[in-house]
Amino acid sequence: MSTCPACGHASTAKLFEVTADQASRSFVNPRQYPARSRELTHYLSSLWGRSTCDVRRCSDCGFGFADPFVAGGADFYNLAAPHPSYPTTKWEYARTIEELNGMTTAGKTIIDVGAGFGYFLDLVRDRLFHTPDIHALDYNQTALLALQSKGYKTFSVDLRDAAFDSLKGAFDMIFMFQVFEHMDRVDDVFARLKYLLKPQGSVFIAVPNDIRTCYMERHGSLLDVPPNHIGRWTTAAFEALCRRHGLQLSKCEHEPFNLATFLQQDIVDSFLCKAEKPGSVGEFVRGLPRSKAQRITQALVALAQSPTRLPAWAYAARNSSKLGSALWVKIDKGS
Ligand SMILES: [Zn+2]
Repeated sequence: MSTCPACGHASTAKLFEVTADQASRSFVNPRQYPARSRELTHYLSSLWGRSTCDVRRCSDCGFGFADPFVAGGADFYNLAAPHPSYPTTKWEYARTIEELNGMTTAGKTIIDVGAGFGYFLDLVRDRLFHTPDIHALDYNQTALLALQSKGYKTFSVDLRDAAFDSLKGAFDMIFMFQVFEHMDRVDDVFARLKYLLKPQGSVFIAVPNDIRTCYMERHGSLLDVPPNHIGRWTTAAFEALCRRHGLQLSKCEHEPFNLATFLQQDIVDSFLCKAEKPGSVGEFVRGLPRSKAQRITQALVALAQSPTRLPAWAYAARNSSKLGSALWVKIDKGS
């Protein structure tokens, strides 16, 4: 089964495949955490029902997707990233707030899906929305405690769970930042978003910019390995999904390109990519006991390797207008 999950088109092509072992290695260093690494490899094989996963692309809407198209469960995130950190600011927060400033927000009811510690909500509470009208969904226990302490009403189950059945038309706005690319059963997600929205309600979604992901992969940097991200959303893929659910894609923008943050991330990512190779200098350094010396050594190796990135950077400089980190969309329910 490899029809496109976004538009239903049957013509899709394989970009690459990863084995469970390769995928596991990209999330957990086997030298540093041998037991967790083995457990993750085993988990991935059983998630996929086989030892490999393909990444395919739809020739019609450009959607890239893991095949099998299955999301990693809580076990995956506990094994791959037991201590997630959340950035406190993101471009999509600022872009969304700019949009909200042009809308009526007082007295509106909102929910942030995948709210983390509530950094986005903290920016809009009191100024745009009343705290009692703010809801937040997250799975992480520490995050839930933080959200509750700020007075937000919390959920810790999937949006598609029966717990949300009683909330038809409950929300004026739904926010999903860096969440949707992790989700499978995307038709069920969109049906649920529409169900939960009031008439004239809006959904704001931000996902990684697929053009940026492709750039990284084609220029020897990290592969975006499933099942962390399983969907690579494009404007056309959002359009197709919205159309099929009777929703209106009203805005769709790429994050502006910032050379300084781009270079910083590119140096780190290409170091991590080289360090996945068994027997490499990077792999050895990453496997050293965690210490200040290890971090400094790691940074020095990354910098020493960075001149090899020059051709890739030259390409990026020529194609920079669409290479920002995120793709941001506003979707309206209409009447
Ligand atoms: Zn498609």
